[in-house]
Formats: sequence, structure tokens, C-alpha cells
Amino acid sequence: DLSHKVILYLEDITVSFDGFKALNKLSLTIDAGELRCIIGPNGAGKTTMMDVITGKTRPDSGRVFFGQTLDLTQMTEPEIANAGIGRKFQTPTIFDRLSVFENLELAMKADKRVRSTLRARIDSEQQDRIAETLDLIRLGDQAHRLAGLLSHGQKQWLEIGMLLMQEPKLLLLDEPVAGMTDDETERTAELFLSLAGRHSLVVVEHDMAFIRQLGGKVTVLHEGSVLAEGSLDMLQNDPRVIEVYLGR
Ligand code: ADP
Repeated sequence: DLSHKVILYLEDITVSFDGFKALNKLSLTIDAGELRCIIGPNGAGKTTMMDVITGKTRPDSGRVFFGQTLDLTQMTEPEIANAGIGRKFQTPTIFDRLSVFENLELAMKADKRVRSTLRARIDSEQQDRIAETLDLIRLGDQAHRLAGLLSHGQKQWLEIGMLLMQEPKLLLLDEPVAGMTDDETERTAELFLSLAGRHSLVVVEHDMAFIRQLGGKVTVLHEGSVLAEGSLDMLQNDPRVIEVYLGR
């Protein structure tokens, strides 16, 4: 059953900082094409989990498998990125003095699989790919605008577009709608829903309205492991989840 093919499997991951367990035997499975939200109070281990997946942090124990067989815990950060995992941090790393189009062009040329130098002209197929991505990220009418002049939300979309130019199988997004207007947040949810299926997405978020709009399965992290998992409605009525968020 292809719809239940696992794209990412974290097995018993433990990460300690000076004896403190930021992740404590964390296990998690993401299906191919899934759109998963990760929530949890500050210090729950969300960032550490993303760092382990991308190879930025090495776990003390446990393993991370990507697409059934690839053991990410044996790989370097660039190897993991090249295997098809893209990560978006909160602060966008776009080039303000280049146009929107040029930013996407640069991201495409930076892809190791594209045999091209930065100076080489892109062919019509590559131009089409950029045009498609521009439409997807809702910047079709902003192609020749300087990236630095975009709104906060548009800059976030551009960075997602830059990630997409590398055709990642899995996208990791850290609080993607932080600082966005309600309208931008809604459009971002639509974008993510259109990416799911073709890509798998793991989204760390606090914005419950946004998570509700995404509608997928939600994982609650607490003290470095999974506290609960399910639909947002189910979790919001789960006494363990309420206790973690509201305290005793
Ligand atoms: P979250 O992203 O859910 O807020 P983090 O993964 O950032 O949680 O942090 C989990 C715990 O690990 C926190 O208590 C944090 O203080 C601790 N921690 C994270 N990174 C480090 C580090 N590099 N050194 C020491 N402690 C850390």
C-alpha cells in the first residue's frame, strides 16, 4: 500500500546536553506524502528533533531512517540534504538584492544534480520549472521584483520556493507562519496542502488555527518524547495534553 509507505522513521532517539535529556527515546513515523504538525511546550525537544533529522545534532542513541533503508545517523549534514531533505528555518535566507526569479534560479543552480555553472544560461525547461514554482508560491506576478521588497509572508514563500527547486522528498518547516498576517497564514496552509502528497512535510507550529486548517495528524512532544498523537480535535480534549499546556 503506497499511501502507507514510510518516509521517515525515528527509532528511540536520545539526545543529552550535560546529562539533560532534550530527547528521551523519541520514536516517530512519518508516511510518504504526509503533512504532519509537531506541537509541544517550549523545551519539549522540537528543535532538537529537527536538528537530529538534518544531521546537525548527533543522537547519543537511536537511529533515523529515511525512505525505509537509508540510515541518516550515519550521514553528514550535506549528505542528508542531498538525499532529499530540505529545512526551512524561521529567518529566511533569501538574497534581498536579487529578483524573486533570480533567487529561484540561484537555488536551482546550487542543486548538485543540475550540471550548470552560476553563469550558464538556463534552458527553457528550467525556465518553465521556475515559472511553475512561482505560481505555486503565489509570486507569479512578482518575478522581477527585488526579493528585499517583498512582504514578510512573501519572503517566507520565496524561501520555500527555493527549497522546492532542489526537489526535496521531505520538507522540515520551523514555525512557518510566525509573524504572518491571517491572510498570509491561510494562503500558506493552502500551499502546504498542495505540496503534500508529492512531498512529505513536517511542520513545527504553535498557531492552532493554522494547524486546524492543515487538518492532518498532530504529534505532541513533551519532555523529549511523544505524549500523544492524533487529530487536533482529539488532542484538545486529551487530559494529558491539556495538563502539559495549562499546567496543574
Ligand atoms: P523546543 O524546540 O521544543 O522548544 P528544544 O529542542 O529547543 O525544545 O530544547 C529542548 C531542551 O534541550 C530545552 O530544555 C533546551 O534548553 C535544551 N537544549 C537544546 N539545545 C541545547 C544545547 N545546545 N545545549 C544545552 N541544552 C540545550
